[in-house]
Amino acid sequence: MNTREVIKLYDKYVMNTYTRVPISVVKGKGTKLVDLEQNQYLDFFPGWGVSILGHCPPKVVSHIKDQVRKLIHVPNNYYNHLQARLARMLVKISRMKGKVFFCNSGAEANEAAFKLARLYGKGNRYVIVTMNNSFHGRTLACISATGQKKYKKGFEPLVPGFIHVEFNDIRSLKKSLRENPVAVMLELIQGEGGINVAEYDYVMELQRICKQHDILTIVDEVQTGMGRTGKWFAFQHFPGLEPDIITIAKGVAGGLPMGAMIARNEIADCFKPGMHASTFGGGPLVCKAALGVIDTIMKKNLLKNTREKGKYLLNRLNQLKEKYKIIEEVRGLGLMLGIELSEKGEEVYQRCLRKGVLFNLTQGKVLRIMPPLNVTKKEIDKAIYILDSVLKELI
Ligand code: PLP
Repeated sequence: MNTREVIKLYDKYVMNTYTRVPISVVKGKGTKLVDLEQNQYLDFFPGWGVSILGHCPPKVVSHIKDQVRKLIHVPNNYYNHLQARLARMLVKISRMKGKVFFCNSGAEANEAAFKLARLYGKGNRYVIVTMNNSFHGRTLACISATGQKKYKKGFEPLVPGFIHVEFNDIRSLKKSLRENPVAVMLELIQGEGGINVAEYDYVMELQRICKQHDILTIVDEVQTGMGRTGKWFAFQHFPGLEPDIITIAKGVAGGLPMGAMIARNEIADCFKPGMHASTFGGGPLVCKAALGVIDTIMKKNLLKNTREKGKYLLNRLNQLKEKYKIIEEVRGLGLMLGIELSEKGEEVYQRCLRKGVLFNLTQGKVLRIMPPLNVTKKEIDKAIYILDSVLKELI
């Protein structure tokens, strides 16, 4: 079967919900992806943040192979030692004095957070404040929470109880207090929104206001979590910030589907048996994979690598900014970087793809660059070389 034939089958049998790139991927290793025709790509956006250690990381593969022989799935009405060990590890690396709920995706983790926040509000308060330009997933509640119109269009009526305020604007947040919210939810780096980083003073004032009014602070770490920014979680870049709830997914199990919510004990304890559940959540296979991810990040010192390579990549991108007027801004943290282009975003993205390097384009003008945490200097140099050559062609 060749790529054209695969596309034909998709056209006939797969629902048309994605804007797809016409390549059919068959294998991957690290930053390398190979398609059906044996073309190779340098993947600087592996799995939209999922393949945080690159494709098929050895430790995760061996954990999966080992576990798949023993037990793949067990329902959550039994105990499972791998889930217990993973929960302990997530609490440890988040330093949150809390408990974990396991599910399968970012949207589900956020749904869990909405439900927990409503329980905390005890029926008196239920409004959740989120940010304009945010992205929180595709379920009905998540698109209601998301602060971008394009994701909601056609799906109204939405879930009530979400209001949006301007990101990095404390006055806008203060106005929302009229609605008596129970929680404020934000991404500390808006990913889909274009790599917009929260300001330290803003975040600290937001937390102060939340504490004063007994409002929960929920940080969506679906994209920023698991070391992506050079610390285990983006909130750890904000000294003094102590979220009540964080949600994670994407990279947590290195490519297998897993989402999780971590909540401080006092809030977590609002859930009682039967109030929330997920059939697949925290099964032994995904938990074993996730333990492999955390172990690799620790043993290979990948938080440090992320900070170092992130700095190096940022410098190289800033050098390109000096060279090309089309680059308006370079921003981000660790290995979650974006370059905002004044024009030709799609053209730059497509040409890079044709030359064999995969980035992402968000908001039509921000090239999102999120290589795996174990990326090497050589791989960064190669990606920059290709991006440079594309920008040169477009002057
Ligand atoms: N929250 C953030 C910040 C995300 O970036 C995403 C996905 O891109 C989600 C939530 C939704 O995650 P999922 O697609 O796993 O449901």
